Amino acid sequence: MIRVTENLKLISDLLHSAAIEAGRDPAGVQLLAVSKKQPLEKIREAHACGQRDFGENFVQEGVDKIESLADLDLTWHFIGHLQSNKTRVVAEYFDWVHTIDKLKTARRLSEQRPEGLKPLNVCLQVNVDDEDSKSGVLPDAVPDLAAACAELPNLSFRGLMCLPAIRDTFEDQRKPFATLRHLAQQIRDAGTDTDTLSMGMTADYRAAVFEGATIVRIGTALFGARD
Ligand SMILES: *Cc1c(COP(=O)(O)O)cnc(C)c1O
Repeated sequence: MIRVTENLKLISDLLHSAAIEAGRDPAGVQLLAVSKKQPLEKIREAHACGQRDFGENFVQEGVDKIESLADLDLTWHFIGHLQSNKTRVVAEYFDWVHTIDKLKTARRLSEQRPEGLKPLNVCLQVNVDDEDSKSGVLPDAVPDLAAACAELPNLSFRGLMCLPAIRDTFEDQRKPFATLRHLAQQIRDAGTDTDTLSMGMTADYRAAVFEGATIVRIGTALFGARD
């Protein structure tokens, strides 16, 4: 049995200590519970302990969970790769999308966001490893795309997200996160507001907190291994 309640307490304590160690206000580091491939009961358990933000990678799985858990006050984040033919449901069901990498996707999400819902919160996924195989915007293209997204009426541009390749040492783990922090500063200098750095997972959350993460996305350490 995976004990979500105990794990949640443990992770919250770890994030809190990492923030203190980094000289940051722990309230500035939010835990995003990554619930992909995890059953509804575990989400309900985490909710009962006060967790409100959950992340899903797959559109249909996410929509099914959002519908099944509509009785709870949850905030849903889409953190998977988003194909441009799947934007409509995402715009209808989710509160956040972390993985914008094209203006076309952002435009569609803005057009498809239903009237009456708050603007969809969006982050750009940045390709910090510069590998052809990875999705994400290359760093050079980030400031212009951020400015363009900030103009879209039904989106709220929040910031940047990355999913770096695994690195073994703390110092190496910090590098891609530092790149993201510098890019956010460039965006601000160019006059676009940004308050979110979505970075760090189970294996590298501490390095991310040291580089200014405001949302840390944790799955395995909270819910156990996925099927
Ligand atoms: C699966 C996933 C996570 C969580 O990873 P863990 O190693 O299980 O903590 C975080 N972010 C993204 C984008 C993911 O796909």
